[in-house]
Amino acid sequence: MAQQTIPPHVLIFPFPVQGHVTTMLKLSELFCLAGIHVTYLISTQNYTRLVRCTNVLSRLSPYPGFRFQVLPESVSDGNAQSMDLVMNLFESLKTAKTFFKDLLIGEAQKPVTCIISDGLMSFTLDLGEEIGIPIIYFRTISSCSFWAYFCMPKLVEAGELPLKGDDMDVLIKNVPGMECFLRQRDLPSLCRVSDLNNSTFTMISSETHQTVRARALILNTFEDLEGPILSQIRTEFPNTYTIGPLHAHLKARLDGKTASQLASSNSLWEEDKSCIKWLDNQPLKSVVYVSFGSIAMVTREQLVEFWHGLVNSGIRFLWVIRPDSVTDEEMGSEIQAELEKATKARGYMVEWAPQEAVLAHQAVGGFLTHSGWNSTLESIFEGVPMICWPYFADQQINSRFVGEVWKVGLDIKDTCDRVVIEKAVKDMMEVRKEEFVESADQIAKMARKSVGEGGSSYCNLNRLIEDIMLMTV
Ligand code: UDP
Repeated sequence: MAQQTIPPHVLIFPFPVQGHVTTMLKLSELFCLAGIHVTYLISTQNYTRLVRCTNVLSRLSPYPGFRFQVLPESVSDGNAQSMDLVMNLFESLKTAKTFFKDLLIGEAQKPVTCIISDGLMSFTLDLGEEIGIPIIYFRTISSCSFWAYFCMPKLVEAGELPLKGDDMDVLIKNVPGMECFLRQRDLPSLCRVSDLNNSTFTMISSETHQTVRARALILNTFEDLEGPILSQIRTEFPNTYTIGPLHAHLKARLDGKTASQLASSNSLWEEDKSCIKWLDNQPLKSVVYVSFGSIAMVTREQLVEFWHGLVNSGIRFLWVIRPDSVTDEEMGSEIQAELEKATKARGYMVEWAPQEAVLAHQAVGGFLTHSGWNSTLESIFEGVPMICWPYFADQQINSRFVGEVWKVGLDIKDTCDRVVIEKAVKDMMEVRKEEFVESADQIAKMARKSVGEGGSSYCNLNRLIEDIMLMTV
């Protein structure tokens, strides 16, 4: 009798914030489609949010090999909204180490074939090595920012960090592949400190270096977008799988499945779908979509500058203002109500939007974004030009690539002035529209090709799946 093959069992452990949780859940679903069994580790708060805001349970129920595993309560605050809170979360995750170890050892019925760990949690590498389970790292950031993080010790050695003088336009020489265009101001925001012994710099730098211990590296990008930087990365990490844009890759592979499966949103907040109806009534490519993601905060002054810039541009806009995103909490909802009243004619505001659907809508002609990597990829995939106002972390470097390398938008980092915003909106939507739309269309085509049958991300995902299958033999 032929021996029955046991499907591989992968344990997926994301860093518990929105952009990481949703992206790695998409990877989980892609694995399930390939018949791989998945245990997905999630914090209680994120699990509650996910179940409340999405149809995730019914969507994943057709996959018998999928299960959520909720982390101990000590891993809290999946709603981290600043680097300090992200650091607290990072510390609280270490309390899950024993839980994680017990989980790995206790899976006697269904042993874990491999762990896909978020590349910020080297304690998973320690445990994998101790127990003898292969670890593959997943970084949810762009390749360009991963590479810049990896090169940070080199920058310190070469004396380029801490940053020199006040001229933030000075070029950085020691990130190979970016010598001609990377300025001091484009480095990840954590480089903007005089004391490099601070905990954030040390943590990110050392965590990134631990990647060398992983069996392989998965990146949510595609070859045609970041090829030259990927060549640099492969000098250190030859086994790198580029399988993005993941949101689109999942949709492509779900094509032909049931309608409920196709609704692949994994948002941790309730989406206000009324904005789609509003968009339905706007002319083709006439609206700027404005959103700064799930973590960025703005001050009252910044909010007012954005509002004046948008209104003075005369262009229609759809603006996401999360209720907790104004630093002066008291003022948040008050300002929002005021702006809403004053905006009615040409604008629409929501607290959280179905972003993928918004960017895919024919009425949307541009995106004013904080340059988070998921937002950038979603915009690139839909061929929507961007105005980038990066907030922190990897966003400073993503926005440089948008403006200078891919030329699909304008990078206005380090300015928040109504005149600059008004001009940028007019440039993107009117004055330089053709130029941006043309390059955005070209890159969008490449993105589509990459996740289609035979495309680079499609083939790399198949290779990853085959390599995991081989681990069970
Ligand atoms: N997002 C959304 N609705 C919103 C704003 C954002 O669904 O109103 C989603 C967006 O589609 C993206 C994610 O939230 O997938 C934001 O991730 P990103 O990496 O861009 O930024 P972060 O939130 O991590 O700063």
